[in-house]
Amino acid sequence: MVTSDSNESVVIFDKLQTNDEGIYTCTIITSTGEVMATTFVLNASCPVDRKGSLCTEVCGCDRAHCDRWTGCICGEGWTGSRCQTRCPDGTYGKGCARQCSCQNGVCRTSDGSCDCRDGWYGSDCSRPCVTGRYGRRCQNTCACRHNGSCSHVEGSCQCVGAWTGRYCDVKVMEGNGEPFVKTLVPIVFFLLLCPVVLLVLYKKGWLCCVTADDDEETQVLLELQRVEADLTQGLQPGWLGRWEKKAKNLQLGDLIGAGMFGEVRNAELRTPKGKIPVAAKSVRVEDAQSYRDFYREVAILIAVHEEKDHDVRRSNIVQLFGVMTKAAHKYIILEYAPKGDLLCFLRQQRNHATAHTHVTFLPYAVHIARALQELQRLRIVHRDVAARNVLVTRDNVAKLADFGLARDVYATTQYVSTPRQGDGVLLPVSWMALESLEMGEYTCQSDVWSFGVLLWEIASLGDEPRYDDRARLTGPVLIGILRRGVRLRKPARCDDGVYAVMRSCWRDDPETRPTPDSLERRLEHLHQILDPDFVIEMETVV
Ligand code: ADP
Repeated sequence: MVTSDSNESVVIFDKLQTNDEGIYTCTIITSTGEVMATTFVLNASCPVDRKGSLCTEVCGCDRAHCDRWTGCICGEGWTGSRCQTRCPDGTYGKGCARQCSCQNGVCRTSDGSCDCRDGWYGSDCSRPCVTGRYGRRCQNTCACRHNGSCSHVEGSCQCVGAWTGRYCDVKVMEGNGEPFVKTLVPIVFFLLLCPVVLLVLYKKGWLCCVTADDDEETQVLLELQRVEADLTQGLQPGWLGRWEKKAKNLQLGDLIGAGMFGEVRNAELRTPKGKIPVAAKSVRVEDAQSYRDFYREVAILIAVHEEKDHDVRRSNIVQLFGVMTKAAHKYIILEYAPKGDLLCFLRQQRNHATAHTHVTFLPYAVHIARALQELQRLRIVHRDVAARNVLVTRDNVAKLADFGLARDVYATTQYVSTPRQGDGVLLPVSWMALESLEMGEYTCQSDVWSFGVLLWEIASLGDEPRYDDRARLTGPVLIGILRRGVRLRKPARCDDGVYAVMRSCWRDDPETRPTPDSLERRLEHLHQILDPDFVIEMETVV
């Protein structure tokens, strides 16, 4: 407001704010037409910790900002005239105005996130640990044996039947003579029945159908069944035999790649239609774990290829030509991808990169989003989606490969051990979702998290993911970082829209992450609007 009489002018600011601060110029034109101007500097703030119109009052704020007019302005989670008190239980945020939703845990007053009590997990701590897990963040594996049930809180065992002891591994002793009779009766019954059953099976001709091939197939199935019951149900009898190739039809060439577990050679496969270039993958170390991974990869690729809607010409999963399991050296025979893996491919592009380079590679991300849709249909989780496991074909099509870590998830989640639980399985920590690190929980949504990291690898042209500027973190350290809300930084030159897609893949709550088909649509759209030379054919027909 400006008031004036003949001698003076007064400028009145109503409730002076800090953003009123600055340099002001006052220009006066007198009745005789004379122009007078003067400049002054307005400083609206009081000295530190002072308030009031004359800056004479003391604020005395605890860990809070002192405002000249309103006094202490509390940070999230604090209240009181001096911000000296934490929000009351059950509330959080600015002014403690928000209600906590934690059910079995303590709510952090700053952001409302829940610190779950032992035996519970989930963003609101409403979910008890799944069967077989217990304790803080469900990180411990139950040790109860013989069908004993395990407390999800502290892991104690409730035994059933004739078992007792801490882990239900001690047999209950019974009265004299009784156990002998109890055990003997079923054994005698079994011994009498067995020859009769075998005779009937033999007469019906069912026994002679068991061949050496089926034996091997059954062995593999039994091995896989322990971890992947649903996948093995999806495989039709004869699955291994149908894909078996003869050693004489495979001509091996040079070594073209060696990963953590596999060794891959250039090769030629003789087929009725002529010779085709292929890649032959074998195990690098011949131990039980490597063979288990080998057969798991075989089983998953066969399940993918035998699915009724699978179209090998349009698929973004590496094509399987066959397997060789009978020879001394076992091989998985795959289509040959001349441009190798995406990680090396991206790194090769660095020398002639421009601001748009990463945009021109977005179609690869679109292709892998399609591969994730295929896996989602089959309820298979890859568990190792990363640029190193994507192959690039001659026609610039990206295909998801390396199913060594993949597991099936039939409408539920899979739980696997981690190094923290001591079985030494190596896990791709920097690509793993929060719930996979915390609870060994793998779902299609945790593959979406890893897909976000793959997108980050594309945008950074093959950098190694680093959190807090540290590479190769241990699981527990990374969990702490991610729980604080820290995520991979936006790579230099990365478009904001592309980075927003990554961030949506890294949401804490798996249910709120985008689905593979929405990722495909968003990335396709971004590619169209960002790539100035958008002419690349996005179809994946090979
Ligand atoms: P691992 O299971 O040990 O990670 P990979 O299957 O990833 O082994 O193979 C190791 C490397 O071999 C890959 O990084 C890639 O460079 C190369 N490679 C694998 N499969 C093919 C293929 N089908 N065509 C061309 N190169 C391949």
